[in-house]
Amino acid sequence: MIVFENVSKTYSENHKAVDSLNLHIHKGEFFVLIGPSGCGKTTTLKMINRLIDASHGSIKVNGKNIQDYNIHELRWNIGYVLQQIALFPHMTVAENIAVVPELKKWGKSDIQKRVDELLEMVGLEPKVYRDRKPKELSGGQQQRIGVARAMAADPGIILMDEPFSALDPISREKLQDDIVHLQKAIKKTIVFVTHDMKEALKIADRICMMKGGAVIQKGTPEEIIRNPASDFVRDFVGAHGAAEEIFQLERLMTPISGDRRLSTSSVPVSASLQETLSKLALYDRLPVERDGNIIGQIDRKTVIRFLAERGGFHE
Ligand code: ADP
Ligand code: MG
Repeated sequence: MIVFENVSKTYSENHKAVDSLNLHIHKGEFFVLIGPSGCGKTTTLKMINRLIDASHGSIKVNGKNIQDYNIHELRWNIGYVLQQIALFPHMTVAENIAVVPELKKWGKSDIQKRVDELLEMVGLEPKVYRDRKPKELSGGQQQRIGVARAMAADPGIILMDEPFSALDPISREKLQDDIVHLQKAIKKTIVFVTHDMKEALKIADRICMMKGGAVIQKGTPEEIIRNPASDFVRDFVGAHGAAEEIFQLERLMTPISGDRRLSTSSVPVSASLQETLSKLALYDRLPVERDGNIIGQIDRKTVIRFLAERGGFHE
């Protein structure tokens, strides 16, 4: 869906901000780019919608080189959410959300319907919020409007550049949860930039870790945890002793009552964190078993979330 082939970006002689990047981002995937400040995340993201042009290599979206798209068509079909959402202060919430549909010359009633649908989708009551001005909203609510605006014309791809990093921890957690649910429901391809490992592990289908413009590791959250390729990740994994000690599968699983016979692969309720993770490497979710009976179900995201919350991060 989004393919980078040998993409480099040179802003000035002999310094590559992005160096020979190869990426295959799948349709419907929640793809997270992570790495320290200055490692090239924003540059990578902006090359997708051509806010920045690559110096070398090619980027394809849906099989077509982005240079071959009409630039407006390309940008209108890629939603973009920034850290400090730039809502137009003099416009209402509804008008802010409707910017791209207006550019696309949608009919008035279609736009109104869409605005209300999007407000519902991001958890803001349309009646209450559609006529407000941005300054009458909290930071978290403004970010929700930013997300709604990015999705307004139903783009296949949404780019998000540290969209929650300016928020307080509670709003951030809430928005992380909501964006994960939303993405599962609407099946958009999301490329999400963060420097927060905890956030990445919580929301990503796949994580790409960058350093100095290059990829140091790509993988699912559990692959990164189990097989860390950098000190940054290794530090984090090193802190797992604590998580292992407090890990209790029975407390994380969703219980199932009634006597269901054991069929396929399962995890014993006494399994350690490591064992649970390695079994879940192959399956999204598995039955949990005690004495040959299924007593519950555990899914990978729950375990990753446990790790993200209890793993003792260095932020
Ligand atoms: P990140 O988003 O990971 O913090 P960026 O992609 O913004 O990183 O920047 C990557 C590198 O490119 C940094 O060294 C940064 O200083 C440099 N850089 C970014 N934008 C420009 C620019 N417009 N002109 C020159 N150098 C830039
Ligand atoms: Mg950046």
